[in-house]
Amino acid sequence: MRAFLPDFLFAGGRVLSGAALVVQDGRVESVGAVPSGAERVPLPGRAVLPGMVSAHSHAFQRAIRGRTEQRDNPRADFWSWREAMYAAAERLSPVDLHAVSKFCFLEMARAGITAVGEFHYLHRDPQGKPYADGNELSLAVARAAREVGLRIVLLRAAYARSGYRLAPNPRQRRFIEGSAEEYLKNLDALSKQVPVGAAPHSVRACPLEWIRDIAAEAKRRGWVLHMHVSEQPREVDECKAEHGTTPPLLLERLGALQNAVHAVHLSADDIAALARAQAIVCACPTTERNLGDGILRADKLLAAGVRLCLGSDSEVQLSPLEDARQLEYHLRLLQLQRAVLDPAQGGVGGLGAALYRIASENGMRALGLPGGALQPGEPADFLVVDLDDPSIAGANAEDLMSNAVFSMERTAIREVRVAGEPLQLESRPALEAFRAAMRRLWG
Ligand SMILES: [Zn+2]
Repeated sequence: MRAFLPDFLFAGGRVLSGAALVVQDGRVESVGAVPSGAERVPLPGRAVLPGMVSAHSHAFQRAIRGRTEQRDNPRADFWSWREAMYAAAERLSPVDLHAVSKFCFLEMARAGITAVGEFHYLHRDPQGKPYADGNELSLAVARAAREVGLRIVLLRAAYARSGYRLAPNPRQRRFIEGSAEEYLKNLDALSKQVPVGAAPHSVRACPLEWIRDIAAEAKRRGWVLHMHVSEQPREVDECKAEHGTTPPLLLERLGALQNAVHAVHLSADDIAALARAQAIVCACPTTERNLGDGILRADKLLAAGVRLCLGSDSEVQLSPLEDARQLEYHLRLLQLQRAVLDPAQGGVGGLGAALYRIASENGMRALGLPGGALQPGEPADFLVVDLDDPSIAGANAEDLMSNAVFSMERTAIREVRVAGEPLQLESRPALEAFRAAMRRLWG
């Protein structure tokens, strides 16, 4: 049994001064006093915060960072970006996928992420033929996370088609499987090796029958269900043309409204449906602004009682704190007001803590994992933060969490622990394997 003794500990949604975080067998044993017989780990000048979660990641997209920031198309938007992303997706070998994913997960760990929901849709070989093991690529990604030490839930995506009344796009041939049955067979096999979730890609990429069957099986098996929902206006328009309704209302009808990724373009009825379904909206603000998707109405969702979590999505920038602060900042620019999401409407320190819990606790919930709040019984996944780092120096118990969310830089994160054990945050071999993969991809 070990008792970590930081100056400040954020546990159970509150900042505690001088409290011990007591860890045994990878779990939080207690918070507060040091039990007799515990090994003391003094952490003067440090704060301990719960590990954060990227509940929506496409790790392979780390390979296109920096390669899509030019206007080579009269209308550079999500759809033109997607073509650039496909250029990488169609060429990655299993070895490259592992190298890119591992380096991405290492960067996540350095940013304070301890668990990831990998929304994985690369399944087949570059010719579109199944690998001998239908989970070859899913397992390569899972292995990468395990080697870094992150918790992973493999949200294996189902992809059936290019879209409603659209000709097949040959650049999607690695994503598409023959039927919902084939998909579920592979997901079942994968579930015996890795924690999984079901993930019909979107209403664009899956017909109604696939979504209904997969949602029913997920419910039966106790798997979380994740989907891209209403990321782009065109996706909403196509759904209306095909189904006569919006994606959230369609998914509610199909019993598939559970974890809605993006949910940027919503009507009042959509928000009410998300609330009725007790859905979690997975916001990816850094990617959403990079892709020009739009601004998430976090204020309206929270007011309706919808919970939020965060995802790094395209991996253009790996900072869950940046995502947390953008939830708020985008609304400030829209409404010309400050502290829009403050739950107490003016309470000091409340906003930072609320945003941090979105980044930690809510992400774990979205992945169906216990924890995220460092309460007794939960996994001991946490960061050790340097209170003398210039970005947050001077923080006290009252303003620590707002300092952390709005100002903390990665340099303040000195240690990241999963199940009480420190992760190795740097790896020369991982860097070299990543660089070799990038050379093979782009020369
Ligand atoms: Zn996504």
